[in-house]
Amino acid sequence: MASPTDKESPARPSNFLRQVIERDLDQGTYAARQWGGSPGDAAHHHHGEPDPAKIRTRFPPEPNGYLHVGHAKSICLNFGLAQDYGGICHLRFDDTNPEKEEIEYVEGIKDAVHWLGYSWDANSTSHLYQASDYFDFMYRAAEYLVEAGHAYVDEQTPEQMRANRGDFGKPGVDSPFRSRSIEENLTRLRAMRDGQLADGSAVLRAKIDMASPNINMRDPTIYRIKHAEHHNTGDKWCIYPMYTFAHPIEDALENITHSICTLEFEDQRPFYDWLLERLGEGGLVNTPPPRQYEFARLNLTYVVTSKRKLKQLVDEKHVSGWDDPRLPTIVGLRRRGYTPEALQLFADRIGVSKADSWIDYSTLEIALRDDLDPKAARAMAVLDPVKMVVTNWEELMGAGHLEPCSAPVHPHDAARGRREFMFGRELWIERTDYEDTPPKGFFRLFPGNKVRMKYGYVVECTGASRDASGALTEVQAKLVPDTRSGTPGADAVKVKGNITWVGVADGVKAEVRLYERLFSVPQPGAGEKDFLEEINPDSLKVVTAYVEPSLGRAKADEKFQFERHGYFVADRKDHVAGEKPVFNRVTGLKDSFGK
Ligand code: ATP
Ligand code: MG
Repeated sequence: MASPTDKESPARPSNFLRQVIERDLDQGTYAARQWGGSPGDAAHHHHGEPDPAKIRTRFPPEPNGYLHVGHAKSICLNFGLAQDYGGICHLRFDDTNPEKEEIEYVEGIKDAVHWLGYSWDANSTSHLYQASDYFDFMYRAAEYLVEAGHAYVDEQTPEQMRANRGDFGKPGVDSPFRSRSIEENLTRLRAMRDGQLADGSAVLRAKIDMASPNINMRDPTIYRIKHAEHHNTGDKWCIYPMYTFAHPIEDALENITHSICTLEFEDQRPFYDWLLERLGEGGLVNTPPPRQYEFARLNLTYVVTSKRKLKQLVDEKHVSGWDDPRLPTIVGLRRRGYTPEALQLFADRIGVSKADSWIDYSTLEIALRDDLDPKAARAMAVLDPVKMVVTNWEELMGAGHLEPCSAPVHPHDAARGRREFMFGRELWIERTDYEDTPPKGFFRLFPGNKVRMKYGYVVECTGASRDASGALTEVQAKLVPDTRSGTPGADAVKVKGNITWVGVADGVKAEVRLYERLFSVPQPGAGEKDFLEEINPDSLKVVTAYVEPSLGRAKADEKFQFERHGYFVADRKDHVAGEKPVFNRVTGLKDSFGK
């Protein structure tokens, strides 16, 4: 498959990140850097070659859940920028928390990145890293900061620490431990490392400025004690770095140039710069250091994009799993019928900005339609079937006769050939295509009206039968001879209605899952509301449909436009070609939500 950002794709609109990168490339900011072939400290890189990557970006997920559409934006952004500017994007598992890592999530994340069309392999190197591999270096950096007088072990209680931090209007108060000697700090740090202190009894803090207007600069904690086993390093460590300390170091060891994150980290940037400047001065990390740039996270209406909430929906079985087609997870979107190209198009269209905003869910659906319209094969399906009997068929055509009809696989691409199906005495039609008395503007089936059975004959409706409850059980019509589509007489009879149908003789029974939005409000959980109470009770309706023969043969994951109905995909899990066809509705033909 061609990568969604290969050279032929149209130039992307510029944005502030592209401008920063172009400026850095013009000025040669990172041109002189060397790369040691793998992540490492300054000495490691100094022994390497000139960095073959013009820029390095990274996508750094925590392996604690499946990725969602917001992550897709970040993946498209980071891998896309690297591709466009001769760079390399790393996939880094941010696993510095000693939590149980689930292999399922790690594999899921790798699959998602690959499926979106990206790779972390470049120059015969796999740029797949895990942050916990840097624990040794992080501890070394911590000792360095202590030795340089830039960090101290604080043994205030957590309550004292909180109280002494101050707030927006009030400067913090220095800890009584702040003036300890370097030797004493080193001894205490090693005691922390060696397991001599209990969880919560001490932390290592950077020594910056307790009066800083930026609270993040008021001697932030950089290491804490946690006697917990880590999936990668086992019980080697009982102290673990804080995210704000770990992340800049991870970036620096990996020679990242542009570290792109979401806006909530903006206030952390001064510490990011402070730390890398200190470690650069000490000759520990390569220079010039990476820089952090923030963009607005994706907020998409009618879904939730927090891993915690998604996990809750899965764990409490509000949905069938992480790949439920109603979820905005990448596996869910994929199963729903979304394509990598549609997500790429969506990411390009929403762009990046510095201001938080909400993107309407329909933007995602429009990108999907734009991608599928030229690709998806057309087919007929009857989702709410009722039988129509052509009462004069045997008399005109002979008993048991079936008349072959055909239609283009794609209306704008004759080369894709034609699909064939049979017209006969009995056809499945949509229940809503018949009315006893037509409402204004109704041109479909009602007694006395003529319509074209699409790609087939013109028929004249003669009546219908109903059961005791009044439900429609059968529609009757008469064939108008010599009107088959594609024959000379086809246009002799003018009709206003065009009816989609499936032959009873060759139609295939299929399960069709009609998905709607999972939430009934644009911002689930906004305000005081519990997001679970805003789940749309009608987000899934399963129907038994009849579909034309080509759909019975569909391959799992194949996408179609069901004429009149919208886009559908053969479910990648449950569909069995030729045996048990199962289709998911991806989206309607046009935006009709709430209308
Ligand atoms: P969540 O809050 O859903 O758990 P997260 O930010 O904690 O998400 P991470 O695994 O830490 O998840 O995210 C990996 C990367 O994806 C980060 O760089 C983060 O900035 C980015 N990211 C996460 N959510 C979004 C979003 N909604 N829009 C854009 N980028 C996102
Ligand atoms: Mg996170």
